[in-house]
Amino acid sequence: MKNKLLLLAAVLFVGVLGGCGNPPADDKGSADAQGTAEITEAKLKVVSTNSIIGDMVDKVGGDLIDAHSIVPVGTDPHEYEPLPEDIRKASEADVVFYNGLNLETGNGWFDKLMETAGKEENEDYFAVSKDVEPIYLTGNSSQQDPHAWLDISNGIRYITEITRVMSEKDPENKEAYEKNADAYIAALTELDSEAKKEFADIPEGKKLLVTSEGAFKYFSKAYELQAAYIWEINTEGQGTPDQMKQIIEKVRNSEVPVLFVETSVDHRSMERLANEVDLPVHSNLFTDSIAKAGEDGDSYYGMMKWNLEKIHEGLSH
Ligand SMILES: [Zn+2]
Repeated sequence: MKNKLLLLAAVLFVGVLGGCGNPPADDKGSADAQGTAEITEAKLKVVSTNSIIGDMVDKVGGDLIDAHSIVPVGTDPHEYEPLPEDIRKASEADVVFYNGLNLETGNGWFDKLMETAGKEENEDYFAVSKDVEPIYLTGNSSQQDPHAWLDISNGIRYITEITRVMSEKDPENKEAYEKNADAYIAALTELDSEAKKEFADIPEGKKLLVTSEGAFKYFSKAYELQAAYIWEINTEGQGTPDQMKQIIEKVRNSEVPVLFVETSVDHRSMERLANEVDLPVHSNLFTDSIAKAGEDGDSYYGMMKWNLEKIHEGLSH
């Protein structure tokens, strides 16, 4: 609040200076400009680590907030080098949301960024996965699998936490945030329950979801599939001879009709696997990023709808 008052004072002060012997500015125009400046400066500044969390924040905050998402669309959020703009936005942010559950830990980029920006956990930055029950990595049982959002019920937990924190930071807009969140959660709940009904008709032997990264643990638990992958998490070796040998064997021993590949990974290993086992890659899937604006899957809702439809379609063959 103190910052807002200071800003308001600064805006007024500039306004007064601007008024001193600067004849061309017409009164109405400069009043509008001041009004806009005040509103812009007063908005809650929210930074998110990736495009999925960023989209949830947009859906809850809409025009009431000033939002910035760090890792670009189509890029892997496990490892990242923040740009000067990210550092500036993070420093200026009223609140920063990150996934947690071992997602942004690849090269420690998020911890370093928060330290550089002078931010404190649970005061300035918050893990949206706070209320998620973690699933651990198969290859390293001390590490959590980060991809909780691929189960919509966890996505709803993320949205609930985002709404809680934004309402606390900006109580004047609490009602609007909650109203947005309620409508958003209702749409996601419907998508989730429809998908669960449809997935029940996939033949048992075909209920195997094969992707490059093992990002579908939470997803496959929610929709009652098995998940298989070339590598378990993007921070490890990708497509090593040992990994290829294991997945080839696993696919050959199953009745799975198709394979899938994620938009945010290198596709070459999956292409090699497809050649080896002579199965088609049915579709791209969205795991660690939404799609580019204007394309199918360019929102959290859209990417989940796409994933659910494509996986159901491919496995029902
Ligand atoms: Zn991932």
